[in-house]
Amino acid sequence: MSTIPQVLTIAGSDSGGGAGIQADIKTFQELGVYATTAITAVTAQNTRGVDAIYPMTREAVRSQLQAIGCDFQLNALKTGMLFSAEIIEETARNIIEFGWTKVVVDPVMIAKGGAALLQQEAIEALKQHLLPLATVVTPNIPEAEVLCGLVINDEASRRKAAEHILALGAESVVIKGGHGTDPNKAEDFYLHRSGEFLFFGSARIDTSQTHGTGCTFAAAVAAELAKGATAKEAIYVAKQFIQSALKDELHIGAGHGPTNHAA
Ligand code: PLP
Repeated sequence: MSTIPQVLTIAGSDSGGGAGIQADIKTFQELGVYATTAITAVTAQNTRGVDAIYPMTREAVRSQLQAIGCDFQLNALKTGMLFSAEIIEETARNIIEFGWTKVVVDPVMIAKGGAALLQQEAIEALKQHLLPLATVVTPNIPEAEVLCGLVINDEASRRKAAEHILALGAESVVIKGGHGTDPNKAEDFYLHRSGEFLFFGSARIDTSQTHGTGCTFAAAVAAELAKGATAKEAIYVAKQFIQSALKDELHIGAGHGPTNHAA
C-alpha cells in the first residue's frame, strides 16, 4: 500500500490539452502527486486560440469543492482561470471552510491569443477575497501590473509591484520574467512577507511552443508545496520543470503549441 500527496486544481478546461486543468493534471502526475479538480469553465480552444468559453455556475463549482473537501486530505491547491467574481467568492469561501492551506494563486487574466479568461469586474474580487488566502501568487508582468496598478519597467518598479501584492494579503509572490524585455534572460523575482527575496534567473528559451507555461509553473509550485517544500524550494523546482518542458518542443497543432510536460 502506498499514498501520495493530494493536490487540487481549481481552473478552466482547455480542450486543446496544453493549459488549464489538463496542464495541471499532467504536471501533478509528472511530479508524483495525486490530482483532484474543480472545473470553473469549459473552453473550446486549440493551439490557435480560444473559440468559446462556457463558465460553470457558482453551484457547480461549489458542489465540486464540497465533494472534494468532504473526502480528500489536501496537501496543497492551486487556482487558475476563475473567470467571474462569483466563482472567486465561492473558491475563497471553500478554502476557508475546509481550512485548506498551501494555496497557489495563478492570477490568470488573458490567454496568449487575447481571450479574456477573467472578467474585468472580477479583478477586485480576486484582490479582496483570494489574494489574502494565497501562500504564493504567481503573476506574469502584465498580471502584476493589473493587480497593483503600476507599470513594471525596471528593477525598482518590479519590487514595488511585489510589495504592493503582498500588501493585498498574500504571503509571498513570484513575478515571472517571461514577459520581460531582456532577449537573453528570463528572471523571476520572489518576495516573501518576511522581506526575504530571491531572483530565479535562466537563459531565455527561444520557442513559440509556450501555451500553458503559466498554468504548468503554478501547478509545479503547488505539487512541490504538497510534498513539503518551502515556497522558494518549490519555485526552484517549478522553474526547472518549465525549462525542460520548453526546451523539448513537441510541435502539436498549427499555433502556439503546448509545453512538453513529460520532458
Ligand atoms: N486556457 C485556460 C483554461 C487557461 O487556464 C489558461 C492559462 O492559464 C490559458 C488558456 C492560457 O494559456 P496561454 O496563455 O499559456 O496560452
